[in-house]
Amino acid sequence: MPAPRIAVLLPRPLDGTYDYLPPAGANLAPGDIVRVPFGRGQAIGVVWGEGEGQIDEARLKPVGERLDMPRLPEELRRTIAFTARYTLAPLGAVLRMALSVPEALEPRRIAWVYRAGAADRARTPSQRKALAGLGDARMTAAELARSAGVGAAVVKALIASGALVAEALPEAVPEAPDPDHPGPDLEAEQKIAAADLAARVERGGFGVVLLDGVTGSGKTEVYFEAIAAALRAGKQALVLVPEIALTAQWLDRFRRRFGQAPVPWHSDLTAARRRDLWRAIARGQAPVVVGARSALFLPMPNLGVVVVDEEHDQGFKQDDGVIYHARDIAIARAREAGVPAVLASATPSLETLANVDSGRYARLTLSRRYGAAAMPALAAIDLRRDPPERGRWLSPVLIEALRRTLTEGQQALLFLNRRGYAPLTLCRTCGHRLQCPQCSAWLVEHRRRGRLQCHHCGTESAKPTRCPECGAENNLVACGPGIERVAEEAAELFPTARIAVVSSDTLTGPDSVRALIARIERREIDLLIGTQLLAKGHHFPGLTLVGVVDADLGLAGGDLRAAERTFQLLTQVAGRAGRAESAGKALLQSWQPEHPVLAALVSGDRDRFIAAESAERRRATMPPYGRLAALILSGPVEARVAEAARSLARAGPRIVGVHVHGPAPAPLSLLRGQYRYRLLLQAPRDVAIQPLLREWRDRNALPNGVTLRIDVDPYHFL
Ligand code: ADP
Ligand code: ZN
Repeated sequence: MPAPRIAVLLPRPLDGTYDYLPPAGANLAPGDIVRVPFGRGQAIGVVWGEGEGQIDEARLKPVGERLDMPRLPEELRRTIAFTARYTLAPLGAVLRMALSVPEALEPRRIAWVYRAGAADRARTPSQRKALAGLGDARMTAAELARSAGVGAAVVKALIASGALVAEALPEAVPEAPDPDHPGPDLEAEQKIAAADLAARVERGGFGVVLLDGVTGSGKTEVYFEAIAAALRAGKQALVLVPEIALTAQWLDRFRRRFGQAPVPWHSDLTAARRRDLWRAIARGQAPVVVGARSALFLPMPNLGVVVVDEEHDQGFKQDDGVIYHARDIAIARAREAGVPAVLASATPSLETLANVDSGRYARLTLSRRYGAAAMPALAAIDLRRDPPERGRWLSPVLIEALRRTLTEGQQALLFLNRRGYAPLTLCRTCGHRLQCPQCSAWLVEHRRRGRLQCHHCGTESAKPTRCPECGAENNLVACGPGIERVAEEAAELFPTARIAVVSSDTLTGPDSVRALIARIERREIDLLIGTQLLAKGHHFPGLTLVGVVDADLGLAGGDLRAAERTFQLLTQVAGRAGRAESAGKALLQSWQPEHPVLAALVSGDRDRFIAAESAERRRATMPPYGRLAALILSGPVEARVAEAARSLARAGPRIVGVHVHGPAPAPLSLLRGQYRYRLLLQAPRDVAIQPLLREWRDRNALPNGVTLRIDVDPYHFL
């Protein structure tokens, strides 16, 4: 009888598993995390099942050891397998997202902290300063040196002399949120929705429910009750948000409701903290985890509910590495775990609404704002009739509304989804446009820093004084507005207003977001000027006017979802206004206010907009009524990429109803020095496109120097 073989999956971009023999004296089960000999070294992997027996037993090596960690839950392993099948990513690449903290699998390295010991042993003034700076606290040596402003040698001397006493830093275990901590009283409509969600979680079993509530209706407070139900049942909750940096207010509210913070999962965690939290999560000691995409594959052993907040947000789509949509995979994970998924949004995606229409998803509605707050009044400003002055961006109508708001001591927000000062710089002498040398994109001026930046590859340079093309001196001119330029105009108009410019350039992490929000709440800011970072989720009671500088911006270019995305974004931005007692107003500057998207926004008729947009998609067999996959070929030699794309197109699937569009140069035809061509596969909904794509890809070898990325359900068409 041959010895049983074990298939081990490694967290590497490979599809297959490797066979091993079981280690002496140990019984392994699927999900066990093991160390195995691999190549000349060792690797950590996960037992995936039984081996296939194709390799001669004599050549097989035994598994090294089973690591002292809980098994990866079966539902997670099935989610990983589903993700790989759906996105066509290598199975091991998906596993790598689940084992994202390799240090967590190794024995813990002890971290030392220090507390004050014998004070008389501090001899020099800087030693005494460091000791005084420590007080009663406990710090690592590096933290102490930094906070006291002394060199590492000073701290070392204190340790040597016994003036500092070392303690091992205990492994961090999060405190459990308390579902019975008294929370806010819910309103009648909120109560009904909350009870429904809680009942679903208690019952268990998979199902998707859309929590469809207008901005400010209290969706968060309502889905907190689904989380509470999971906690009462001794289970865990996973909450996905589009951007963890923006959750400061969310975390405060969670703490108010549950008396404890949840575990936030984000890239700003220190390595030690990240490791401890990952282990706590794997052991089931982190009852609630909130995070962006990267939290999706955390190994929570006993999930009770999955929540996706702002489910429509395109931030859930991951575009590099494994290309997936976190909302869709979150639903898959809930299905594999057999638990409910809750999707919350004021502007649900067409995908989700189509599933509600077909009866696959349930819907709970919150039709009004919480408390005394009313929905903001929306109006368009027709720039053809009330244009800004030459070289300016704010219409007299908007300026007047801003003046009134500021005079009344209220706060206002100007929204423009464009970072920097100007999106284009050109030479007045020869017309040359300053372009990124690596990308087919214009360089964006960031005047505060005196730099030009490519927003696609990040390349930066100083702003030249002469035209690189014709050499003309001091004749480069900024074209179009970014938020810095709007801020310049606003500062001239309202010299006494306290203005804050907000974008990913000024907000660099959770702390700076928290600080900004505190300043807004304390009314230390009168006028906010910002990008979409400000559009989402925030609740500023003093904010009563929202001005959209360029409501037409997202409609240009016209990809599949341009109208939907613009409708969602502008609804969300407008939804920041009037969230407390004072009525709010949103003004949309547009050159084409009769455009269906803007007309629908102003009339407040979401359903009509959705119906029209759905009909259009249905007619064109586009998602959610058709299937789409993008194939993007890239490489450093354009002719080769183009030829590879043409030959791939010729070999495309020949099936009735399935179309291959292209190849065509991508709109961003050069990115980081790589030429890019696109193909699009379009199919009716009832065609499973993954097998077609897989066969198409595997049958056609690519020439050297050309790579292919497949994006199933593409959201970005650059
Ligand atoms: P949404 O997510 O639907 O836009 P939020 O959940 O942000 O709405 O709620 C808007 C504001 O109203 C928040 O400050 C929230 O704390 C508050 N709120 C909502 N419902 C209640 C309630 N029942 N009691 C107290 N405050 C509430
Ligand atoms: Zn570039």
